[in-house]
Amino acid sequence: MSATISPTSLLPRTLDLVNCGLVVLDSAQRIVLWNRWMAARSGYAATRVHGRSLFEVFPELRGARVEKAVLAALGAGVAANLPQGQAPAPFPLREAGSFDGARIEQAVSVTPFTEDGERYCLIEVRDVSGTVDRERQLREHAETLRARSYGDGLTGIANRRYFDVALDRELRRAGRTGSPLSLLMMDIDSFKAYNDHFGHQQGDACLTAVAQALAAMLKRPADVAARYGGEEFAAILPDTTLEQACAHANAIRAQVAALALEQAPAAVWPVMTLSIGVASFDKARLSDAAALIAAADRALYAAKRGGRDRVVADGAAIAAA
Ligand code: GH3
Ligand code: MG
Ligand code: MG
Repeated sequence: MSATISPTSLLPRTLDLVNCGLVVLDSAQRIVLWNRWMAARSGYAATRVHGRSLFEVFPELRGARVEKAVLAALGAGVAANLPQGQAPAPFPLREAGSFDGARIEQAVSVTPFTEDGERYCLIEVRDVSGTVDRERQLREHAETLRARSYGDGLTGIANRRYFDVALDRELRRAGRTGSPLSLLMMDIDSFKAYNDHFGHQQGDACLTAVAQALAAMLKRPADVAARYGGEEFAAILPDTTLEQACAHANAIRAQVAALALEQAPAAVWPVMTLSIGVASFDKARLSDAAALIAAADRALYAAKRGGRDRVVADGAAIAAA
């Protein structure tokens, strides 16, 4: 039986089963073929559009990329691909049976051909909504991963990895432009006593409160507040001299003390306090990350020895001044 059926007789049925929109225009841009996929998604049956200009049926296509592609195909015989991109949904097409839903995102191609001496063009419209959704999901996922890989899981501020990248970047910038750059290394005082007295969970909550207070004090877009490790924090202050950084460090120190978080009886001070060491970029002496961090660490150690709840600046810088 099947041997007697000609491929041509199967063609209309096949065109209606194809899972993309097929439209053929004649040289006057009139619709001569409109498959069922197009009818179901446009709301126009083939009988309503046959013989009419595509741009009369869809005036919004005028002046857009689809019209340019059709004119190029019918005029110069040039084919075109219009991937989903700047114009994601040129045709007003919606999911079959839904006339108020979101438009289908489309990839459109236009291919010229000649039949009996007349130029025609075939327009194929593909539904790429699924692909677009998947791409969006992948992008969002990558964004989340990136944010997570640079964020500290406990406190929500930047982590050590982000700090390292940011400090390198800012050091290069300071080296290039000669603008000042300061670094604060901060360590919570008597935190072991706090943990021992109140428990590790309350210790975590305290770390988060201090981190948030720190982040709130660093408002310039280029400032970086990071958890450096355990109960240590670091701040990068671009365009900030040693003097300015010391003043800012003092404000941070005062802000943390003002939180008035009760300390353990064994702690040095009755409320939660912070010691801070400050150092600044110096082309001759402190020009790389390791040297700058070491200088700020030395100052921090001096703040601890000096009694805690205080700010100490890089002594060598002061001696050199
Ligand atoms: P100092 O004033 O000299 O800085 O004394 P300290 O007790 O703060 O310093 P020490 O280095 O002896 O103790 C730090 C403590 O911080 C010990 C450690 O258990 C605690 N710690 C580090 N990371 C975390 C954390 O993520 N959560 C909690 N709850 N505690 C932490
Ligand atoms: Mg410490
Ligand atoms: Mg400590």
